[in-house]
Amino acid sequence: MSTTAKKRIVIVGLGAVGALTAWRLSRRRDVEVIGVEQYGRVHEHGSYAGESRVFRTAYHEGGRYVPMLQESRRLWRELESASGRELYLEVGALSIAQADRIEMRTTLDTVRDYALPHTLYSAEELRRAYPQHAVHDGDVGVLDHHGGGIRSEVALLSALELAERAGAELRFNSPVLAIEEEPGGVVVRTPAEAIRADAVVVASGSWSTRLDTRLHDLLRLQVLGLTWFLPQSIDAFLPERFPAFLRDVGPVHFFGVPTLDGYSVKACSNPTWPVARDVAEVPTAYTRAELVKIGQQAQEFFPALNPEPVRSSVHHCAYTPDRTPVVDLSDSGRVAIVTGLSGHGFKFAPVLGEWAARLAATGERGDVDEHFALDAHLERLQQRGAYGGGGH
Ligand SMILES: Cc1cc2nc3c(=O)[nH]c(=O)nc-3n(C[C@H](O)[C@H](O)[C@H](O)COP(=O)(O)OP(=O)(O)OC[C@H]3O[C@@H](n4cnc5c(N)ncnc54)[C@H](O)[C@@H]3O)c2cc1C
Repeated sequence: MSTTAKKRIVIVGLGAVGALTAWRLSRRRDVEVIGVEQYGRVHEHGSYAGESRVFRTAYHEGGRYVPMLQESRRLWRELESASGRELYLEVGALSIAQADRIEMRTTLDTVRDYALPHTLYSAEELRRAYPQHAVHDGDVGVLDHHGGGIRSEVALLSALELAERAGAELRFNSPVLAIEEEPGGVVVRTPAEAIRADAVVVASGSWSTRLDTRLHDLLRLQVLGLTWFLPQSIDAFLPERFPAFLRDVGPVHFFGVPTLDGYSVKACSNPTWPVARDVAEVPTAYTRAELVKIGQQAQEFFPALNPEPVRSSVHHCAYTPDRTPVVDLSDSGRVAIVTGLSGHGFKFAPVLGEWAARLAATGERGDVDEHFALDAHLERLQQRGAYGGGGH
C-alpha cells in the first residue's frame, strides 16, 4: 500500500499490453507506477515478437473494433512522435479474397459503416496495381488506407522508455509468482520481494492462466509462426510499393508486410498446430515439412518469392473462444486484467493500455465494453464452447 498520496499501481508483464499500460499510466500525476517483467526488456518470448505486426481498420473481425482501432491509430502516432522513432508505417493493408467470402464481406461492411478511406480493386485492377500478387479470377481487393505495419518490439521499447522517463519504475527478470488481495490493498509476490500496491494490472498474455485460475477454462494458447522469404527483386516489395496484406483462399490464410529489413519479405501462414494450455507445451520451431509447405504456398501467392524461408520463428498467443479480449476489473476495483488478445490484438494494444490504466487508477469499469468482461466471457463459453483460430 502506498504511504504517499499517490496510488501505487503494479503492472504484471511488460509485453504489448503491459508496456502500453505503463506508458499511459505514467502520464497520470496521481499514480506511482511499478512494472514487473519475468524476462528482460523487450524479449523474444512475448506474443509481440518477430519484427512487425499488421495494423488495419477495415476489420473482418467486426465493427465493434473499429472505434478502438481508430483511437489506437491516434495513440500509435502519439507514441511515434513522443519517441522520435518510426514505429507505424501507414503503407495500407490490402485484403484479397473471393468477393463472396465472409471475411471480405465483413471487411467491406466496416468500410461502409465507418466510411473508412479505401480503394476497391477487381481482379484485373489488382493484377495491374500489384503484380507481386498472383491473383485468381473472381478475387477482389480492398486497400485500407489506414492500414500498414507496426514495428512491434521497437514500439514496446519506446513505450517503456517513455514510461520510465515519466517516473515509472520497471523491474526486469523478475517473475511474479502470485497476486493476493488483502484488506486495503494487493500484494504482488516475486522470488525476491512482496510488493504492496493499491491496485494491479495483470497483463501477462499467454502466461495468464498461471496467475489466475478463473481463466483456465476460457483461454487456450494457439501456436502462430512467422516466415521471411527472399524476393527476386527487393524493389517490388519496398513499403512504398507493397502494402501489408491478407490473403484468404480455402483454408489458407496468408499475411505479411513489406520488407522492413531491406532484403526479405515477411509472408506467413500457419500449419494446424494443436492448441496448448501452457506455454511449456508450445513447439519452439517448425518442422522441415511445415516449412516446405509454407514455402510452396508463399510461391503460389507470390511467384517472385524464393520458396525457402531465410528466417522463421514460432510463437504463441492466448485466445478466447470468440477471439474478443478479456478486459476485467475485480469486485474490489483493485485488480484489472487484460488478456486473450487472440492473435489480432497488437494493433489495439494502446487502447487496451489506456483502458487498463483507467481501470486501475479509478477502480471503476467506466465505459469499457461489457462484452469483454470475464463473466460475460464465461457465460458465452458455457453457451458456445468451441474455439476459433486465425489472427492478425
Ligand atoms: C506470430 C504472431 C503474429 C501476430 N500477428 C498480429 C498482427 O499482425 N496484428 C495484430 O494486431 N496482432 C497480431 N498478433 C497478436 C498480438 O501480437 C498479441 O495478441 C499481443 O502481443 C498479446 O499481447 P499481451 O500483452 O497480451 O501478451 P505479450 O505481448 O506476450 O506480453 C505478456 C508479457 O507478460 C510477461 N509475463 C507473463 N507472466 C509473467 C509473470 N508471472 N511475471 C512477470 N511477467 C510475466 C511476459 O513475459 C510478456 O512479456 C500476433 C501474434 C503472434 C504470436
